[in-house]
Amino acid sequence: MNHFHYLNGELHAESVAISRIAARVGTPFYCYSTATLARHYTVFRDALAAAGLDATVCFACKANPNIAVIRTLAELGAGADVVSEGELRQALAAGVPPARIVFSGVGKTRHELEFAVAKGILQINVESEPELRLLSEVAAARGIRMPVSIRVNPDVDAGTHAKITTGKKENKFGIEWTRAREVYGLAAGLPGIEVVGVACHIGSQLTELEPFRDAFVRVRDLVAMLRADGIQIRRLDLGGGLGVPYEHESPPSPAAYAEVIRATLGDLNCRIIVEPGRLLVGNAGILVSKVIYVKEGATRTFLIVDAAMNDLMRPALYDAHHAIFPVAEPAAGSARIEVDVVGPVCETGDTFAKQRSLPPMRAGDLLVFGTAGAYGAAMSSTYNTRPLIPEVLVKDDDFAVVRARPSYEDMLALESLPDWFGHEG
Ligand SMILES: *Cc1c(COP(=O)(O)O)cnc(C)c1O
Repeated sequence: MNHFHYLNGELHAESVAISRIAARVGTPFYCYSTATLARHYTVFRDALAAAGLDATVCFACKANPNIAVIRTLAELGAGADVVSEGELRQALAAGVPPARIVFSGVGKTRHELEFAVAKGILQINVESEPELRLLSEVAAARGIRMPVSIRVNPDVDAGTHAKITTGKKENKFGIEWTRAREVYGLAAGLPGIEVVGVACHIGSQLTELEPFRDAFVRVRDLVAMLRADGIQIRRLDLGGGLGVPYEHESPPSPAAYAEVIRATLGDLNCRIIVEPGRLLVGNAGILVSKVIYVKEGATRTFLIVDAAMNDLMRPALYDAHHAIFPVAEPAAGSARIEVDVVGPVCETGDTFAKQRSLPPMRAGDLLVFGTAGAYGAAMSSTYNTRPLIPEVLVKDDDFAVVRARPSYEDMLALESLPDWFGHEG
């Protein structure tokens, strides 16, 4: 459920007409809805509470690291799961208390570990033995033991797109299931490490519960083994991954997901940490674009729009489907034609949809890509020297630009010509 709807013949985000934002900020732009973010967060949090779980929801910032988005969730009580120093700085800038921040990721540098330890965050999820040793050294140098969960790779098939599955043994993530006990033994003996828990994250956009259940059962077995070894496990970080509907998918409800956690891990007396990303922000965002040209090809019609694969990479990267609809509400029963919706970038992959049935549109018309709040702006680039596009947050009848469009001068200012070219400009 989201708060983008037609009102008086025009698409609105909450009570703000999309055309009004477009007139102010220009296209293309991302638009997020505060009410939708809040709804998704509270439904998820309440489902965990209703299952009787002592759970902390740490928003996986990589899905949408805009500080206004993070702040909106943080004000409702969310923590943050970050995967780089940059994201950690964004979470802190957004006002997330360090005691609610988890640092994940397979390649944290010494500098990143030092920064995280200095900020006193809740825990670091460690993914390898060399990282464990380095973190111990960094923390011990400060005279502390850093709370750590070790990310284990439960070797389950999440049944999702190959590029976003992370829990199989051939993936780069985590410690192999079969070696976990040994690595915990190592961790327990390191001076800068305080082992507090087990972490796992098996993939993204999961639309079934079975892979979660399989992974959680393995986590349960591991906890029993570790406790038998005398290692105190008091937190379980279960990652993110619950999917959202883009097209015909019907992902499990938060309540059903919470029930799987309760049934598999609920009696272990552990604080549960979950790291949803897409689930909280996916349907809370749209990408607004404008038709530049309608081009009649030999065999098909192309809608050439001003957004491109650099702004929303998911279709080019994962063949992802995004709903596309016009900002002006089509009359009931109005004609539809099949069009290819493409961007201006010089790659055939810059295609958002092929043979999509849409009402006839003309140059200058506004259209929207749905479910673009997750891994949209976050994955964007300046390919073809296209400036990153603005992000707008709507709240009731108000809106604000929460990330400005850089100017061409801003972009060019980062580049320079070496001295050997001389200065006769
Ligand atoms: C990407 C990621 C998440 C969030 O995944 P979603 O599918 O967006 O919920 C959570 N935890 C870790 C460690 C991740 O890498």
